[in-house]
Amino acid sequence: MILSGWGRFPRQDCRVTRPRGEAGLKDLVAAGGLIARGNGRAYGDSALSRRNTVDMRGFNRLLAFDPESGRLTAEAGVLLQDVISVFLPRGWFPAVTPGTKYVTLGGMIAADVHGKNHHKDGSFGAFVDWIDVMGRDGEVRRCSRDREAELFGWTLGGMGLTGVILRAAFRLRPVDSAWIRQTAIPTANLAETMKCFSDHRTATYAVAWVDCLAGGGGLGRSLVLLGEHARREELPAKKRQAPYAVPARRRLSLPFEVPDFLLNSLTLRAFNTFYYHRGRQGAGERLVDWDSFFYPLDSLLGWNRIYGRRGFAQFQCVLPLERSQAGLSALLEATSRAGRGSFLAVLKRLGRQESRISFPMEGYTLALDFPISPGAQRLLAELDRIAIDHGGRFYLAKDGRMPAQTLHRADPRAEIFRARREGLGLAEVFASAQSERLRL
Ligand SMILES: Cc1cc2nc3c(=O)[nH]c(=O)nc-3n(C[C@H](O)[C@H](O)[C@H](O)COP(=O)(O)OP(=O)(O)OC[C@H]3O[C@@H](n4cnc5c(N)ncnc54)[C@H](O)[C@@H]3O)c2cc1C
Repeated sequence: MILSGWGRFPRQDCRVTRPRGEAGLKDLVAAGGLIARGNGRAYGDSALSRRNTVDMRGFNRLLAFDPESGRLTAEAGVLLQDVISVFLPRGWFPAVTPGTKYVTLGGMIAADVHGKNHHKDGSFGAFVDWIDVMGRDGEVRRCSRDREAELFGWTLGGMGLTGVILRAAFRLRPVDSAWIRQTAIPTANLAETMKCFSDHRTATYAVAWVDCLAGGGGLGRSLVLLGEHARREELPAKKRQAPYAVPARRRLSLPFEVPDFLLNSLTLRAFNTFYYHRGRQGAGERLVDWDSFFYPLDSLLGWNRIYGRRGFAQFQCVLPLERSQAGLSALLEATSRAGRGSFLAVLKRLGRQESRISFPMEGYTLALDFPISPGAQRLLAELDRIAIDHGGRFYLAKDGRMPAQTLHRADPRAEIFRARREGLGLAEVFASAQSERLRL
């Protein structure tokens, strides 16, 4: 069947299988050439294999929970939204979450996702105690920081290329309510935006929506959102009665693809300007429910169709702290100059992280979306160059188009990973369209 990631680019004709249990999965592993797929929320081709894309959503049981430590054991195909709907009413929330709840645990571990709290808490992997991984011989190995530590280390962020994750034990965080105390701070330019992150380093959550079409003195103007889990006593009396209840959000669904002619620099500029000014008006502190704070995009189901039939690519890099300001200015200038701003431009400050292959490093990460076109491809290549010149690296969960040499120039760990996979005979068994394109 024709399959793609969330960006709907590239699309490939893939054989898809849905094993029922471990025995079925073992047979598929023996045949080789497979990649595990969670809920398809990676943007590009990391969960695509022409030979065999293994849909893991059938492995979806919650297995055990320890209310003392908040440790949940669950199968890899469980959706994050199911974890939230079962555990938030009991006072627990994911310690790290990406910007959508429609991801599986396997996908979160394979991409070692980061949230708006990376600067404080690190990536999802920091909360994973162990994982069960099916290797090339069909055996399932339990690995952790003390046991099979190599396999554990390469599997976090390893994009499914070390084996199939079957189960995981990970810790949730206790929360007192389903509400977030959000503070919105508009900034006038990049220097102010970065200063705002720096001044609020102790905030639990921090993210900026950048108006990526503003140039000149307004380059990098943003709306910075900070957040803290609200304690019960901070809620108004009415909400305190039922602190985990929030109003149901209306879900809109995009019923058709937006025609390409509507996606031009004028509509993008109008959207960015509107978003920025609306944000300015809403500046200050208010209570928002967890769903609106963490997952604003999830309320518009199928919004990936907004970019038209050709699909879109997301560019996401992280730049080391000391070179972030120069690098971000150059990235935003190139974007603004090309008149190809994206609907979404998200900036976060990441904290320190030592990992074998996971994406984060201490610095700033910028994510931009571009509808696919020859002009966008040229701009993306320019953004790649700028990121590399500033010591940056790229997020594989967002990539669907980088040339192999770009990745290998940016990230020396890629060659170590490749050699390791080859040495262990993993490359012929676990392979995605992305691993082949990027020579991993
Ligand atoms: C709106 C939106 C916002 C996002 N925000 C963020 C964010 O803030 N931070 C962030 O870090 N990411 C973010 N992402 C990216 C997303 O979190 C990751 O791509 C995640 O991996 C998707 O999970 P999935 O279950 O859909 O996996 P898929 O897209 O199906 O697969 C992604 C990767 O995981 C591997 N994989 C999946 N299941 C398994 C398994 N059982 N065993 C082994 N490998 C497996 C696949 O092989 C593939 O390499 C966002 C994505 C979207 C669409």
